[in-house]
This record gives sequence, C-alpha cells and structure tokens, in this order.
Amino acid sequence: MCYNSTISRIGFIEPQTGTSPVPMDCSYPSSYIKFLGTAGTRFVVSKQIRASGGIWLFLNGIHLHLDPGPGALVKSIQSNLNPQDLSAIILSHRHLDHSNDVNIMIEAMTNGGTNCKGTLFCPQDALNNDPVVFEYIRNYVKTIEILREGARYRIGERVTPMAKESNIFSPSASPRESNITVPFALEFDVPVRNVHGSVQAYGMRFFSSEGTIGYIGDTRFFEGLIDAYKRVEILIVNAVVEHQMPGVDHICVKDAITLIKGVSPKLAILTHFGLSMINAQPDIIAEKIAKDIQINTIAAKDGMEIQIEKDGWLR
Ligand SMILES: [Zn+2]
Repeated sequence: MCYNSTISRIGFIEPQTGTSPVPMDCSYPSSYIKFLGTAGTRFVVSKQIRASGGIWLFLNGIHLHLDPGPGALVKSIQSNLNPQDLSAIILSHRHLDHSNDVNIMIEAMTNGGTNCKGTLFCPQDALNNDPVVFEYIRNYVKTIEILREGARYRIGERVTPMAKESNIFSPSASPRESNITVPFALEFDVPVRNVHGSVQAYGMRFFSSEGTIGYIGDTRFFEGLIDAYKRVEILIVNAVVEHQMPGVDHICVKDAITLIKGVSPKLAILTHFGLSMINAQPDIIAEKIAKDIQINTIAAKDGMEIQIEKDGWLR
C-alpha cells in the first residue's frame, strides 16, 4: 500500500516535526512538478505581475524546492504544500528572484530550526561575500552541498533489500519498522555551468523513476546546453526575454526553439517570464513553437501542476 501524494498537503495531516511519511513499498505515489511562480526579472517580480515562488518537485517520493524566490513560503502554504515535508532546497544561483526566500524556507523545512534536517544545494558564491544564506540559518540543515559542473548528487537514501533485512538503520526496530522510517532517494546532476553575468549559475537534470527532468535555469544560450540536456523527457526552460538583447545573459524565444529542437524532450515547459514575454503572451508563443517544431511545448502558469507518470505526463 502506498500513501497518496496528497499526504504532504497541509489539511490532510497535522503539521508535525519529524520526517514526512514515506511509501511502504517500492512504488511511489505519482510525481509532480508544481510552479509556485513563473516570474523572471526584477520588473515582473517586484510588481508581482506573475508570482515568484519557484518550483516544488515531488519525485521518487522526495519533496524538494527549487529556486525559492520572493513568496516561496506563502505560495507553498497557499498551495497546501507543507515545507516540513521538504528534503532539500536547491538554489540555482544567488539572484534575488531565485533566492529571496531561501532563509525562511530553510526555517520552515526545519520547523523553525528545531528539527535539523535536509540539504541545501547552492553555488559557492551564495555563501561567500555578501551571502544570501544567513550563517545562523545554515546550522538548521543537516548538510550544505556546493553545486559544481559535472557533479552528481543524491537526496535521501536508497534502501537495498540487504539493508532492510539487516536492519542497519535502527538495530532495535523490526525489519518492517525500519522499512517505514527510511526515505527514498533522488539523484540529480549538474551537466554544465551556465553563463549568467558575474554569478555562479547552474541547471540540473533530475533522474526520477518516471524519466529525466531538465531544468536549464538562467543562462545565456550556448551550444553546450543542447548536449548537456539531450533527450531529457521534460525540459524546463527559463525563457526570460522575447528577443535577445546585447549584454543580457538570458534565453530568448529564438534560443528556446533551438534548445527544444536540439534536446528533443517529450514536453518542453517555458517559464520565468520577463516583461517582454508577458506582453507577447507566453501561451501564444508556446503554441506557435509546438506547431512549428512538432514538440509538445507549453507555457507555465502560476500554480500549474504537471503530474508525471511513466508513460507520459498529465496536466
Ligand atoms: Zn538570474
């Protein structure tokens, strides 16, 4: 018997300290990607033309939050997502529209710092001079891992049958009890470093049991991105500007088309829209891309949830 994915929704369970409930066998409740915001650039964010709460992912039985921009906590709670269920928070880079709520999300994940848990993944420059993660907050998480090009990471633990039998996780517990207390694992990697002004910025590929999800993050377009994300099943593209502007390290519509064609995902999702994209209507742009290159392409909306299943995706 598996729990339903709605176990993490506030309202179905009493908020409590400790780890989230986990499925009791090897099949996961269905995975999803929830857009808690689709705003990009300071203009759209500061006027809240679109929300800017980042992305909540539930993959392989693991909850993680990606890029907690302004409003991440509020949007999570309003979406009935319980930050105490999170196992990890990932910052792709230190810009405010991606990192503003990182401290409060860590505090929420750890129940005000009383339940030391989880991992923060971030670039080194999020912790160095003028850090975006406060030093006292860093003590609340179990580990901080630095994102680096080419590195592969794991969230949670994979349970092997041997480990279950030998009961290594809790010598006093029965095998059945120890199965219940061990979370699942999700791996991701950083295939390439992005080019994004003077900050360290990274995208990533999440290797879920339903397929690979690529998140490109903020970057200027370069050819290496295509190889790095080749054939991921779902590709999330921060298509920030309609047309390329000199000196602006962001992906425009033309770049997005080149990327999506080259990567060839089953589904491409445009998000992180700046003002020019909002004015040009992301839905219309996505529809035109899908028609022109014959690859499913949609524009994310605030609150949109993509449910993922092995044989495809549902919206
Ligand atoms: Zn940025």
